[in-house]
Amino acid sequence: MSNPVIQIQGLHKRFGQRPDLAQRLLSLTGYKVDNPTVHAVNGVDIDVRKGEVLGLVGESGCGKSTLGRMVAGLIKPSEGRVLFNGQDVSDLGRRQRLEYILGVQMVFQDPQASLNPKQRLHQILSEPLKVHKLAPRNEQAGRVDKALLEVGLDAEYRSRLPHQISGGQRQRIGIARALMVNPQFLVCDEPVAALDVSIQAQVINLFMDLRDRHGLTYLFISHDLGVVRHISDRVAIMYLGRIVEIANTEDIYARAVHPYTQALLAEMPDVKRKRRTFVPIKGEIPSPLDPPSGCTFHPRCPHAMDICRTKVPVLKEAAPGHQAACHLMDAPGVRPA
Ligand code: SF4
Repeated sequence: MSNPVIQIQGLHKRFGQRPDLAQRLLSLTGYKVDNPTVHAVNGVDIDVRKGEVLGLVGESGCGKSTLGRMVAGLIKPSEGRVLFNGQDVSDLGRRQRLEYILGVQMVFQDPQASLNPKQRLHQILSEPLKVHKLAPRNEQAGRVDKALLEVGLDAEYRSRLPHQISGGQRQRIGIARALMVNPQFLVCDEPVAALDVSIQAQVINLFMDLRDRHGLTYLFISHDLGVVRHISDRVAIMYLGRIVEIANTEDIYARAVHPYTQALLAEMPDVKRKRRTFVPIKGEIPSPLDPPSGCTFHPRCPHAMDICRTKVPVLKEAAPGHQAACHLMDAPGVRPA
């Protein structure tokens, strides 16, 4: 088994709400003001092995993008650590830090927002080379053309502005920009969510080709289990800041243990039924400002028991390589279907 490129260990992220004017005035008079805290990521442990694609799935607001941003170094964890090639990223020397910054790149959901509208595509793509001094000036144009070709675009696109190309082509530019610095690991945050279904398939195929060609490793974040199925080796399911199930892709789709995963699968868009819109499961994801006690899924879970309201379930092995966090796994004679 290959070594992990990224190790996520006991990772937490808490966001405190900024005190409003009244709270600031009260605190000046000596009153203790409690500011609500959102626990966006709540104790996540995952390894992502070299060459692997780990799909990370959950509803909007479950903390998956925050987790991805911590892995890419865009925000700092409140607790826990991220290791890149075995080294804690909060404790790197200058040269190793640059290796990490270049080695872990992010592809964003909205290519329109992530590209400078005033820059031509060759400027966008050559910028990382200039900033990090990765190629002499006379080689930069060639590197840009090569990157365009890698993502399926002609060199003639180099002079266009972002608004002069389609949404799918803009996402290809977002991917090419990430590739300019020869990364090892891509955090892909809902990279096809804004695209038409037909274009989604092309971009997913491009991700798979690039993985094979460059030996890349991905954390592939999506709300859509259908999208993740085609690209992932393993899938992790996240709910209100915690991983509730993780397994090989085949096991998740054929033998899901956690009731939340089962509900997501039941509501998955189905091409055969000609339904391509994501339908959320019953009830709404609770506010992370005031999460339910015990298992945070209990208000929406059809199998909830008394223990679920008081005790947080921890990840346990359901089968080799397959873990889930659900009290049903301990209930005698009861097993999630
Ligand atoms: Fe449902 Fe209880 Fe399992 Fe949570 S622990 S998913 S509430 S059965």
